[in-house]
Amino acid sequence: MKTPVPDYLLEIRDACSDAGEGRLADYIPELAAVDPDRFAVAACTMDGVVYTAGDADAEFTIQSMSKPFVYALALRDRGIEAVLEKVEVEPSGDAFNQISLNRDTGRPRNPMINIGAITTHTLVGPPGASEDERSEVIADGLSAFAGRRLEIDGAVCESELRTAFRNRAMANLVRAGGIIEDDPDEAVRGYTRQCAYRVTVRDLAVMAVTLATGGVNPVTRERVVSAPVARQVLAVMATCGMYDAAGDWMSTVGIPAKSGVSGGILGALPGQVGLGVFSPRLDEHGHSVEGVRTFERLSQDLELHLMNTTVTEVEAVRSVRFDEISGRRTFRLQGPMTFASAEQVLRRLAEIPEGPGEVTLDLSRVSSVNTSARRMLLEAMRRLSAEGHTVGLADPGRRLPEPDLGDGTRPVTRRAAR
Ligand code: GLU
Repeated sequence: MKTPVPDYLLEIRDACSDAGEGRLADYIPELAAVDPDRFAVAACTMDGVVYTAGDADAEFTIQSMSKPFVYALALRDRGIEAVLEKVEVEPSGDAFNQISLNRDTGRPRNPMINIGAITTHTLVGPPGASEDERSEVIADGLSAFAGRRLEIDGAVCESELRTAFRNRAMANLVRAGGIIEDDPDEAVRGYTRQCAYRVTVRDLAVMAVTLATGGVNPVTRERVVSAPVARQVLAVMATCGMYDAAGDWMSTVGIPAKSGVSGGILGALPGQVGLGVFSPRLDEHGHSVEGVRTFERLSQDLELHLMNTTVTEVEAVRSVRFDEISGRRTFRLQGPMTFASAEQVLRRLAEIPEGPGEVTLDLSRVSSVNTSARRMLLEAMRRLSAEGHTVGLADPGRRLPEPDLGDGTRPVTRRAAR
């Protein structure tokens, strides 16, 4: 059998591409010269499989879609706190090129609009990094996200630099306000270069999924940023990524995303998928018309809205067995252990009469245990032990590493029930 995913993407392309609506970005002269009818879409799974349809090899410049990744590099290099001292994370509701500064603090409202992104750019690399050093760190970082060496489109970069009057004004403003320490011209040059990397929809999907996995590129298996950094970036994309259409986007599409004036949009659904779309005609917010339509359709068809409530139907406690002779109770757990499922387990464990006796947790059907569930399960095991129970654990997949019952005591190892 051939997987139907590529056919589905082709269908989406046909349904969502109806050339004609929208206009090419022309404030960067070179961007007005592209073929307006190109269209491509790509999806990358959590284990690094990429599906594409349309002009999947067509290259375009990354533009504002570089912002979340360069923000990620700044967070990695300077730490989340230090970056927050320079750039805030409030949605501005403004267009990408508005001078959105917090009146009280003088800081850019968020890193997704130009003034915030120019500031963020100067925070990549070690403090005091030269223009060239910083460019190198950004080249390496963006390439690590994409899983291949990305190159700059010199013509687009030159073309934008010649007309970057607004961006220069903004860089001078944040310099005057003491927010950036770099030379404003250097900052704009570096930022413009960062926007001019050439990418394909495949790159967008891989870059996006690298955030969706919590920072690991699933194609190269390289950890590019830490999980807390990836989460911070996704949160800011969700609230600020689509500029003055961010609220509308979040309610209709519901996927943390970022668009660029070249006509690309990338979206990262945490724990599920990375998506990239390219079609150069833009709407009044500067987002690709067909790109937006494609995301709306994908979100609806595939139920990708972040706020979809997936109530786990499975009971966290699959069965409880009581062996009268040994007095052993075996709780077979199943599914992913999160706060909600671990709470179900604790409630059942709380019904056990006081010891002595034995309580065994069988985790052989548990797929994962997050940090909060781990804490909850360990605490329950400690309490049972303190009440005089022998605590047993069947955990062949080592979902609960180093189970400490206090004072370094370990639960008794039991075999998983069949
Ligand atoms: N390089 C572009 C600029 O600074 C990016 C804008 C965008 O893609 O939204 O104007």
